[in-house]
Amino acid sequence: MAKQVSICVIGSGYVGLVAAACFADMGHKVICVDNDEARVKLLCEGGVPIFEEHLPELLAKHRGRSVVFTSNLGEAVEESEAVFIAVGTPQGDSGAADLSYVEAVVAEIARMIKNYTVIVEKSTVPVYTNDWIRRVLHRHGVGKDRFDVVSNPEFLREGTAVVDFLHPDRIVVGASNEQSAEILRRIYEPLTEGSYYAQPDAIQGCCTMAQPARMLVTTPQSAEIIKHASNAFLAMKISFINAVANLAEAVDADVEDIAKGIGLDSRIGSRFLHAGLGYGGSCFPKDVAAFHWVAQERGVNFQLLNEVRKINETQREVFFNKVRSALWTLRGKRLAALGLAFKGETDDIRESPSIEIIKKLLRAGALVTAYDPAAMEHAKETLATEENLKYAENVYEAAQDADAVLILTDWKEFAAIDLERLIRAVRFPIIIDGRNLYEPAEMQKRGFTYVSMGRQSSYQGLEAKPHKMPA
Ligand code: NAD
Repeated sequence: MAKQVSICVIGSGYVGLVAAACFADMGHKVICVDNDEARVKLLCEGGVPIFEEHLPELLAKHRGRSVVFTSNLGEAVEESEAVFIAVGTPQGDSGAADLSYVEAVVAEIARMIKNYTVIVEKSTVPVYTNDWIRRVLHRHGVGKDRFDVVSNPEFLREGTAVVDFLHPDRIVVGASNEQSAEILRRIYEPLTEGSYYAQPDAIQGCCTMAQPARMLVTTPQSAEIIKHASNAFLAMKISFINAVANLAEAVDADVEDIAKGIGLDSRIGSRFLHAGLGYGGSCFPKDVAAFHWVAQERGVNFQLLNEVRKINETQREVFFNKVRSALWTLRGKRLAALGLAFKGETDDIRESPSIEIIKKLLRAGALVTAYDPAAMEHAKETLATEENLKYAENVYEAAQDADAVLILTDWKEFAAIDLERLIRAVRFPIIIDGRNLYEPAEMQKRGFTYVSMGRQSSYQGLEAKPHKMPA
């Protein structure tokens, strides 16, 4: 049995809450802190503030026993051997990460440290944040023998966060000495030795007793860069296939076939080669910008990252122009917008391409009815001032009398629409699919005019291929 470690997790968002629940499931004693009193109250009373598979059952199992919630950071730090910082690191005006939440937390931690404590950067931060945390602790009078700072970036994806956390491709630990690395080894031992996977009620995934999770120990700087470089690389793959999609369309090729052909090369791999509206969310956009900023600061030319961002922004324009090409004018047109979250299986709408596109359509005079399986409450707050935007309870209600149906998020539910019911609901059978969830030939057979990304569109009867609208 691995030794239990007392852990404090600061921040109960997508990363902090998932980490807290998973550490508890791994056998540790966890205090999860947030300065959002309403969120702490909700968590204490049994609520789950984010939409993530397995999270409700893990919280139900451990809440009040091996994981507790509080807004009292001081007490939580005092009682913990390791303090994980999992607060937000949003994009600042210059493109650099805004680290003020991290600094504020470190200043608070400094007042409370009594015994040797490992401070762990779980938030995504630029290289040398580790040094800054050390410096802030010194400035607040914490002796250097009372703490170490370790980088332990998180690679989970929203929508599959719990499984990703407990079955990671790798656990990266950036430590400057053995003492602090050892505490992280103890924390992750149930995953790296495999004992977690032998538990009868363990969350299932790709790791097993025989093939447990791998840990890579590096310097703090390398660990910090691994996280930024990983996200930038994945964003680059998405922008690459989107640029290929636009080319494919211009030469009557099919990006789905091309992606398959590229992805079968084991050196490249098929993941993150899905043409669409581009990446969004709280991570890729800001991490690409922050990584680019770090390179610029150090005098390193990393222009590639700027191009990745530009291609991503272009995809929204590309889609908007497809809507205009299919519908001619937009004023007064009724559009069903399927999807508000930045990707399927999450309620997160931060930097969602869908939200940006809906706003643009509304500016152009369209009347939009939106539906999302989980993100409607968040969207209602963000889009509260929008007139001409309504919400529906399901796909078919959204599509009622619509001039066109737009697929904006790759929810599994949207890949399994009852097309016969849909065609009865709409005014015109036109689907503009920003996520390539259907086969053009099949959609044509079913009676739809179907426009997607990087593929030839299929039209019905007299609907000749329309001219591309000027940008
Ligand atoms: P989030 O906004 O969902 O959660 C952050 C939480 O921190 C909020 O609940 C907020 O109230 C709390 N907080 C802020 N200041 C605080 C303070 N002083 N004391 C206590 N709590 C405080 O953010 P997130 O999506 O969980 O991301 C956190 C970090 O992890 C970011 O750096 C992000 O880039 C990184 N990350 C996110 C993901 C993801 O998929 N969301 C994946 C990997 C890494």
